Amino acid sequence: MKIIADTGKCVGAGQCVLTEPELFDQSEDDGTVIVLNDKPEGELVEKAREAVNVCPSQALSLQE
Ligand code: SF4
Repeated sequence: MKIIADTGKCVGAGQCVLTEPELFDQSEDDGTVIVLNDKPEGELVEKAREAVNVCPSQALSLQE
């Protein structure tokens, strides 16, 4: 599984970071998402799914 982030769609809401700070951060410049680990394993897989679901702008997706 791989996390794909479309920074063009990201509105910098930060929900992904709140959901899992081990996987996501936000750019200091414009607040858009930075994926810290795009190939989560173990418990982080579920957290990645949760982050995709909570993102308000559908900027995150998963490649299974
Ligand atoms: S939750 Fe979505 S819109 Fe908000 S920072 Fe993360 S990727 Fe961007």
